[in-house]
Amino acid sequence: VRSSELDCEVLIIGAGPAGTVAAAFLKQRGIDVRIAERHVAPRFVIGESLLPHGLDVLEQAGLLAAVEARGYERKHGAAFFRGEEHCRFDFGEQFSAGFDHAYQVLRSDFDQTLADAVSAQGVSICTGQSVCAVDFDAAGGLHTVSLESAGGLVSKLSCRFVIDASGYGRVLARLLELERPSDLPSRRALFGHFEGEAPPEGIGQGDIWITKHPVGELWSWIIPFGGGRCSVGAVGADVDFESFPEEHDDCLRGILQSAPSTAKRLATAQPVMGARQISGYSKEVSQLHGPGFCLIGNAGPFLDPVFSSGVTLALESARCAASLVADELGGAEVDWEAGLSQPIARGVRAFRSYIDAWYDGRFASLLFSARQDEAIRRKICSILAGYVWDEKNSFATQSKRKLRQLVELARKG
Ligand SMILES: Cc1cc2nc3c(=O)[nH]c(=O)nc-3n(C[C@H](O)[C@H](O)[C@H](O)COP(=O)(O)OP(=O)(O)OC[C@H]3O[C@@H](n4cnc5c(N)ncnc54)[C@H](O)[C@@H]3O)c2cc1C
Repeated sequence: VRSSELDCEVLIIGAGPAGTVAAAFLKQRGIDVRIAERHVAPRFVIGESLLPHGLDVLEQAGLLAAVEARGYERKHGAAFFRGEEHCRFDFGEQFSAGFDHAYQVLRSDFDQTLADAVSAQGVSICTGQSVCAVDFDAAGGLHTVSLESAGGLVSKLSCRFVIDASGYGRVLARLLELERPSDLPSRRALFGHFEGEAPPEGIGQGDIWITKHPVGELWSWIIPFGGGRCSVGAVGADVDFESFPEEHDDCLRGILQSAPSTAKRLATAQPVMGARQISGYSKEVSQLHGPGFCLIGNAGPFLDPVFSSGVTLALESARCAASLVADELGGAEVDWEAGLSQPIARGVRAFRSYIDAWYDGRFASLLFSARQDEAIRRKICSILAGYVWDEKNSFATQSKRKLRQLVELARKG
């Protein structure tokens, strides 16, 4: 079926956090928006630890109340471990004005919560529909999107604008050949869910734990969901996994036992799902926008899991893009570079400096150094809380230079 009439003004590919949040912002502006999602039922998704800045975006999108109502585990900070060394950042002590907490979320539940909330706002979500082709400018300024159902049935709909929020589906990056190799080294993540863990008591109970393991670049996360259930993952270069058993569950267990913090906390915990592996997840694209389309969230660039930046970048790009799309459809001249590409590049650049410093060991030396300046700690805490767009924070705006200065200071001192 080919439709030459407008089916919706904006078609969003994917009902992950980027897609649903973009839809909520567009609906606020009175835009007729539809989401096509290839899956029908909620499913396991990785990316479970949110950052406080993400809550600002959810609040502006009118979605925070729905998230809060789910009673997710509150995350008040991030704790880092290396051998017997330990240090904690409490978001309540950060430099930027903002939320002092975030949430640890089972993504199947979180994504469904956002989808239900935008449906209640009047957004139509077509589930079980996989976008397989887009014909730009097919009919007098309208674009034709081809959707395929699980049974192989193809239908078409026409719209004025396509937002790609397909995450690792990378629909437009593939169709329009926008994929570029990431200059981050290829790494591997092995992860699963456990029950019966022993979290610390008090304010740190919902913290994410990030542990540096004694082999190569290997580090692990523990993301507690409450009630003794948690997400656990290990990340490193391929070679770092070679000294552990090949079988995924045994490998993950072996890595967790190789550091005192994780070994103790998970001593009696048992896996509740088989460990899964993903590699080569860092992605880059040549552009985030073009005539009639843009890319948001993981459909664009993705860096690395270490500072839980993925969902925050996805939400921020959804916010920026939705505002530009609404302006453009309203007839305004829109500067996509200034409104989307540049802010996302700024955020990516800031996170990237800390990610590089994490893997080359500089960040860990700073974390565990005995001399710590309180003002600097507060600024670094804001980066860990996702406030990388705070122009008053020199550790966000000049991240590389500031890290270099700190390392030099630590060396001299
Ligand atoms: C190992 C690892 C750990 C991570 N940990 C964290 C973390 O702790 N915190 C964090 O913030 N981030 C984390 N991330 C990143 C996080 O997973 C992503 O950044 C986040 O899910 C991006 O959201 P999104 O909405 O852009 O994409 P997604 O969540 O991937 O959603 C995309 C949606 O599009 C749908 N879709 C795909 N193709 C099509 C198609 N052809 N047609 C229709 N629909 C389609 C998919 O089914 C999906 O629902 C991690 C990533 C990795 C690899």
